[in-house]
Amino acid sequence: MACIFCQIAGGDVPSEIIYKDEEMVAFNDINPEAPVHILIVPKKHISSLNEAESNDAQLIGRLFLRAAKIAHDKRVDKGYRLVINVGREAGQTVDHLHIHLLGGRYLAWPPG
Ligand code: 5GP
Ligand code: ZN
Repeated sequence: MACIFCQIAGGDVPSEIIYKDEEMVAFNDINPEAPVHILIVPKKHISSLNEAESNDAQLIGRLFLRAAKIAHDKRVDKGYRLVINVGREAGQTVDHLHIHLLGGRYLAWPPG
């Protein structure tokens, strides 16, 4: 059984899609922690950043550039945060690499 984000990327599980192309999909987080909380996800299953390889570098770069574009489109580009949780101890719960885009409220630093 494919992981939940592979299923969303494949269109087998519904989500509120914000953006999609041949290599990535962005959709609203089901449990938003901010007014804007979007996940930017490669279609390729990479379990976490720890499993990313050098030939994933351009893909990962494009995920970040797309996140910035979405932040602009959602009008939160004056202040937003991109987060990758890596590993259980950092709060990773879905083992498929994803970038959280959080915005639309004040974001405290450091995070918990
Ligand atoms: P992590 O904790 O791994 O960094 O982030 C996983 C995120 O995926 C969480 O914020 C969680 O709310 C979100 N999530 C988990 N399952 C689903 C789902 O089925 N649909 C959507 N849209 N988001 C999900
Ligand atoms: Zn997956």
